Amino acid sequence: YKTLRLVLGDQLNASHSWFKQTDDSVLYLVAELNQEATYVRHHVQKVSAFFAAMAAFSHALEQAGHHVCYLTLDDTQRYQDLPALISALCEHYQVNTFAYQRPDEYRLSQQLIALNLPNKVAIQCVDTEHFLLPYEHIATQFTANKHRKMEYFYRDMRRQFGVLMDGDAPEGGRWNYDQDNRNKLKKSDLAAIPSPLVFSNDVRDILARIKRHNVATIGEPAPDLLWPVTRSQAKALLDHFCRHCLPLFGQFQDAMTGRSDHQWSLYHSRLSFALNAKLLHPMQVITVAIEYFRHSDAINLAQIEGFVRQILGWREYIRGVYWANMPAYAEKNVLEANRPLPRYFWDGQTKMRCLSQAVTQSLQTAYAHHIQRLMVTGNFCLLAGINPDAVDDWYLSIYIDAIEWVEMPNTRGMTQFADNGLVGTKPYAASGAYINRMSDYCGDCHYSVKEKVGDNACPLNALYWHFMQRHRDRFSRNPRMAMPYRNWDKMDAAQREAMLERADYLLAHLDNL
Ligand code: FAD
Repeated sequence: YKTLRLVLGDQLNASHSWFKQTDDSVLYLVAELNQEATYVRHHVQKVSAFFAAMAAFSHALEQAGHHVCYLTLDDTQRYQDLPALISALCEHYQVNTFAYQRPDEYRLSQQLIALNLPNKVAIQCVDTEHFLLPYEHIATQFTANKHRKMEYFYRDMRRQFGVLMDGDAPEGGRWNYDQDNRNKLKKSDLAAIPSPLVFSNDVRDILARIKRHNVATIGEPAPDLLWPVTRSQAKALLDHFCRHCLPLFGQFQDAMTGRSDHQWSLYHSRLSFALNAKLLHPMQVITVAIEYFRHSDAINLAQIEGFVRQILGWREYIRGVYWANMPAYAEKNVLEANRPLPRYFWDGQTKMRCLSQAVTQSLQTAYAHHIQRLMVTGNFCLLAGINPDAVDDWYLSIYIDAIEWVEMPNTRGMTQFADNGLVGTKPYAASGAYINRMSDYCGDCHYSVKEKVGDNACPLNALYWHFMQRHRDRFSRNPRMAMPYRNWDKMDAAQREAMLERADYLLAHLDNL
C-alpha cells in the first residue's frame, strides 16, 4: 500500500469523498483502541455501539471493494496509544502517506497534530465532510470568550442553506415557533406516545472483549443493543421518527413523564448517536424531515421548525462555541462550583423522583432527552454547585451520543453557566415548580413540591433561592433575571432566612437526599 487512511469511530461517513472510488494502493484503518474506550468511564452501551458501528462500517467498506485493516482490542492492546499503532502500521506496510480526517475532539486533534512518523511518511489531514458550517468558517462566526446569539446564528444558517425559506423571509413569516410548542403531557396524551423503534444488534462478542480487557464501564450492558449501528438502521430510525414522532415533536419537546412505557424517549428522534458517529449527514436528516412535512397534513410548521432548529441551529452552534473556545473552555468555572457529584448519580438511589427517574433511565438506556439533561440533572448540579469537571465527566460517560465537542458546551456552558454566558445569556436555574409544570414526577415524589421549608419540602426550592442569593452580584443586573430577585425581596425576612437555612442543611447533606 502507498497510503494508510485512518477512520475514527465517530467518522463513519460512507459518503465521504475518500470512498467515491476504490484504490488498491490505499488501506483504511479502523481500530478499537484502549485509549478511546477508557479516556472516561463510558456507559457500556456507548462503547458497544461505537465498536459495533465500526465493525459494520469496515465490513461495508470491504464489500464495496476497499482494503480495510480492522483491528479489535485484542489486536491493538500491545500498542500504547493511537500514534504508536499508526507508526507501526506505516512501518509494516511501508506506506509513504498517512491521512486522517480532522477529529471533532480537541484531545484527538492535538494527538494527531503532534504525530511524528518515521521514514519521512507524509501526513495529510482532510475534512470529515459532515458539518454544515465549514470548519474554516467557525472563526468568522464565533470569537473566543464572546457570546454569539444562537437565534441569529440559526437565522444565518437558514438563509445560507435555504432551509424553510420563502425568498428572503422565513417560511410562514416567523423564524421561531417555540411559543406554540412545549406543552405538558396530560394523562390522556400518554396512550398515544408512539412505541420507539428499537433494534436488536447482537453485541455479545464486544461485551466479552470489553470484559476481557478490563475496560471499566458504567450502566447496564445490553447484549441485544437497541441503538442503530448501520446507515440503514439509522435511516429506518429517521423514517420512523418522521412518520410517528415529528407530528408532535415540538409540542411535547420539553415534556417529561414517569408513567408511560415509552416515557424514556417520547417524541424525540434518538438520532444523536447516528448523527455523531456520522452514519447520517445533518442535511440528510433535515431534507428527509422536510419531505415528510411537505407531504403530511399531520406535521405543521411549528413542529418541523422546532426540529430543524435543533440540527441546523443548536448542533452547529455548539460545535462553533467548542472550537472557538478550546482548550480554555475545559477549565471554565466562573461560579466557582466545587462540590463533588452526589453518589446517586451512579445508581439513581435518591428520594427525589425527577432525579431518580432521569439517572435510572440513563443507566438503563444510555439516553435521556434534552429537558431531562438540562432541567433535571443539569439544574440540580447548577443549584447544588457541583464542580463542572465532575458534571462534564458524568455527562461524557453516560450518554450514547456523548462526544466532548457537543457534550461540553451543553454541560459546562448551557447547564452550569461555568462559561459566564458564552452559550446561554442566563443560567437555566429552576425550582421544583418548573419540574411540576413540565412533568408528572412531583405527584409521586417523596418530597412536596409546594413546600419550601421543612424536611419534606422539595430540595430544589430552597436550593434555587440559595443559588440565586449566592450569585446575586453576578445575576441581579441581568434584566432577564430581575423578576425572581424582586420576588425574593418581597418575601418575608423570616421565610427567606428559613429557606437559606434549609438550603445550607441540604448542601451539607447532598448525598442523603
Ligand atoms: P432530539 O430531541 O430528537 O433532537 C434532534 C437532534 O438535534 C439531536 O439528535 C441532536 O443532534 C440535535 N440537538 C438537539 N439539541 C441539541 C443541543 N443542545 N446541542 C447539540 N445538538 C442538539 N447532545 C449530543 O449529541 N451529545 C452530547 O453529549 C450531549 N450532551 C448534552 C448535555 C447536556 C447537559 C444537555 C443539556 C444537552 C446535551 N446534548 C448532547 C444535546 C441534546 O440533549 C441531545 O442531542 C439530545 O437529547 C439527543 O436526543 P435526540 O437525538 O432524541 O434529540
